[in-house]
Amino acid sequence: MDGALNAEVCIIGAGPGGCATALQLDKHGVGTILLDKAVFPRDKVCGDALSGKVARSLERLDPELAIALRRQPGTQPSWGVTFVAPNGKALRVPFTRETGVGDAPGAILPRLGFDHFLLQAVKQEGSATVLEGTRAKGFERTAEGWHVTALHDGKPLAVRCRLVIDASGANSIFATQVAGLPMEPRHHCAGVRAYYSGVTGLDTQGFIELIFLKELLPGYLWIFPLPGGRANVGLGLRSDMVRRRKSDLKKLLVQLLAELPQLRERFADARAEGPIQGMGLPLGSKRWPLSGDGYLLVGDAAHLIDPFTGEGISHAMISGMHAADVAAHALQANDGPIPASALKDHDARVWKRLGQELAISTRLQQLTAFPWLFNFVVNKATRNPVLADTISSMFNDLDMREQLKKPGFYVKLLFG
Ligand SMILES: Cc1cc2nc3c(=O)[nH]c(=O)nc-3n(C[C@H](O)[C@H](O)[C@H](O)COP(=O)(O)OP(=O)(O)OC[C@H]3O[C@@H](n4cnc5c(N)ncnc54)[C@H](O)[C@@H]3O)c2cc1C
Repeated sequence: MDGALNAEVCIIGAGPGGCATALQLDKHGVGTILLDKAVFPRDKVCGDALSGKVARSLERLDPELAIALRRQPGTQPSWGVTFVAPNGKALRVPFTRETGVGDAPGAILPRLGFDHFLLQAVKQEGSATVLEGTRAKGFERTAEGWHVTALHDGKPLAVRCRLVIDASGANSIFATQVAGLPMEPRHHCAGVRAYYSGVTGLDTQGFIELIFLKELLPGYLWIFPLPGGRANVGLGLRSDMVRRRKSDLKKLLVQLLAELPQLRERFADARAEGPIQGMGLPLGSKRWPLSGDGYLLVGDAAHLIDPFTGEGISHAMISGMHAADVAAHALQANDGPIPASALKDHDARVWKRLGQELAISTRLQQLTAFPWLFNFVVNKATRNPVLADTISSMFNDLDMREQLKKPGFYVKLLFG
């Protein structure tokens, strides 16, 4: 006996990926330790936009959770997205034709509240041992599985487990040091954001605003409305471009809000509620192995962020649920440590669910690098309701998004 805690599975990180994994493992009756270096509620640098896929993931985990989320204080329902092209033209794209009817498909909720809500749900289920204030530091493969060393409130702590599920986010030490996933600037984005109060012109139906500017393409500046005239405001740019242009994104955000004609007035009386904060986004524009000898990767640790929209919360939850299903099966089918071959199904399931979407978004990211094309599509769609409707459908219908990969779509766009 070495005083270590024991569990079948040790999940590193209690963000949306780790919590979804724990909730799904609970359904399989698998003993789990979930550890996070932070004590919740904790902040996470993010745009805070929750897509319809988040609601659907919650429904799959527990329909009551999806209902409870809508009642969370501070939640702003969102009915659509407004794209602003580099030429300043705006295109409002509702998520659904029935805007304003029933529950909104999307929402904006600061991560301080959303992640706490998810971890509370894990605690209420009661089967996972949750250790907050616990930073995982070392991972040793043993004859039985893993020996994970951590610091809990500054004191050493060890966990023995058969399987590690790494959900420790964009700066995961497990993903880089054990799984060997590198940070490739072309497949990585830098993002900064701050909360502002007193912003004017926010959409009353909670449409999120993506403002594409020549200097940021294929990234964008965003304004995501929150209740009471508050907004999550930020911008993102691919890391290779940040390096090449030697950009200071925090300075750039302040400058754009003060100088851009379409934003200057709206931010004239606005006040940043705290410092502008930055964090990286590992993009899913390149496929990496998501499993290996005795481990599974989930969410940002697995580089699964949508390269066009920056959406990563739902992808963390979806990959977490798949990881839990694969883990439960592998633990039952194997004695002792779990070999890589027993976990490969995780890769297959995640790529089947997200692969096509990520491939289309990678193509879209490449296309938005051409400002003239962006201007052209938005100009045309603002005049042509059928095209606007087509673009709207693309948000909910993958087959429609697939059209963007075909040359015929652009021929129709040009001459239609
Ligand atoms: C600027 C920006 C804007 C974004 N906007 C959006 C958006 O609007 N919508 C959207 O869907 N996505 C957005 N994303 C992406 C989204 O934030 C991530 O995809 C999402 O948080 C991934 O969830 P996760 O559970 O994998 O990781 P995280 O949410 O990062 O959670 C990881 C957890 O692991 C813990 N941890 C880390 N290291 C250790 C360790 N060694 N030991 C123990 N615990 C550890 C951390 O404390 C954290 O709680 C944005 C990202 C950025 C940077």
